Amino acid sequence: MKYSRPRGTRDFLPGKMAARRYVEQKILGVFTRFGYKEIATPTFEHLELITAKSGEDIIAHLYHFKDKGGRDLALRPELTAPVMRLYVNELQNQQKPLRLCYFGNCFRYERPQAGRYREFWQAGAELIGSATPEAQAEVIALASAVLKELGLSDYELHIGNIGILRKILAENGVGEEEQAHIMGVIDKGDEAQLQEELGRLQLPQRERDVIYGVLELNGRRGEVIKRAEALLAGREVVLKELRSFEEILDALESFGVKNYHLNLGIARGLDYYTGMVFEIYAARLGAEKQICGGGSYSLAEVFGGKPVATSGFAFGFDRLLLALEREGINLPDTERVLFMVIPFGEEYLSRAIEVASLLRRSYACELEVMRRKVKKALAYADARGIPYVILVGEEIKAGKVLLKDMQAKEQREVDVEDLEDVLAAIAGGNP
Ligand code: AMP
Repeated sequence: MKYSRPRGTRDFLPGKMAARRYVEQKILGVFTRFGYKEIATPTFEHLELITAKSGEDIIAHLYHFKDKGGRDLALRPELTAPVMRLYVNELQNQQKPLRLCYFGNCFRYERPQAGRYREFWQAGAELIGSATPEAQAEVIALASAVLKELGLSDYELHIGNIGILRKILAENGVGEEEQAHIMGVIDKGDEAQLQEELGRLQLPQRERDVIYGVLELNGRRGEVIKRAEALLAGREVVLKELRSFEEILDALESFGVKNYHLNLGIARGLDYYTGMVFEIYAARLGAEKQICGGGSYSLAEVFGGKPVATSGFAFGFDRLLLALEREGINLPDTERVLFMVIPFGEEYLSRAIEVASLLRRSYACELEVMRRKVKKALAYADARGIPYVILVGEEIKAGKVLLKDMQAKEQREVDVEDLEDVLAAIAGGNP
């Protein structure tokens, strides 16, 4: 092969692309029903925007380049930063809350593996301008509604709250920047490094034990909260954070989302998360099982805006599709061609084109363009699984065509005038 695809990218063939569009539309449909409005941002941004949010370390994971004007640009690795840039530039003065959603491709220079690509798609939503428990719960409920709509059932929703760890660190005099750094280490899951970092901060052993204790709090609500209360006894500020977390959970349950795990070990690497965080895992995906990540954050000020409480999430769209596939969920064939128009020879070609044009106003319809004999064209229709063929021949002189049912192997004459009604009846019975 002379030209292959760049590593970590994919081509989407017919059928696959239809499935992707179907899922995309379903997701956007749920977003719309929750009142979220779609926006789109450029595929590349100033490199600075990305590093302002994620730090210089992210450069190793980016596709970045200088354009001909010498500007440093990067292909977007995710969409939260672009969305918040857009918010700061264009929407800051609008009434709150703002509910925004997006669907777009993202690029990361990573080692490709199953479920991890260099070009992948994210579908996400951001609720800007409210820090209430119900606003934070709404975004989790929205992510969960998407999965329900798609029929995915084998997944786990894990909800955490980094505010608890942050407050414990703050009580020990650890500043915000350092807190964020520790969160990053926890997110990486590197226990040795965590030990080292906590050692460097010279936290007393008792405090370290509390931190490790919090990281292990994982399970059903009642039990986790009980253990957390025991662990955090006497720390009023931290307990207050736990109470507000419970208010989010109460609201979430009112939204009908009850099947979740509390997991206070979720840290989510980036600096700007403030409290609630959540992740959704599809176990069938193996190592790259996280299909969704999100939480409550404060980012506008990083881009020169006024601070504004925001909650949001992003689905890894490709992983979502993989999860649906692994669960054996069949997606409808939205590109199914029901009809094919075949002329009996060149003489009837122009009439066949007219009939096909008429049908194409309402249905997916093929037209014979290979000038094959009828028999060959019928064999093609059969091989393609096209269930009905409209043959245009001498009957057209009397305003009629032949409608052939490929499966029943029957054909009948239909007036061209009635054709639309006849086909509507057929199409109605062929969802
Ligand atoms: P993040 O922006 O890192 O929180 O990622 C959000 C979601 O995007 C993750 O939960 C994944 O499902 C998905 N994701 C992240 N990186 C990749 C990748 N390289 N390939 C495919 N999906 C990804």
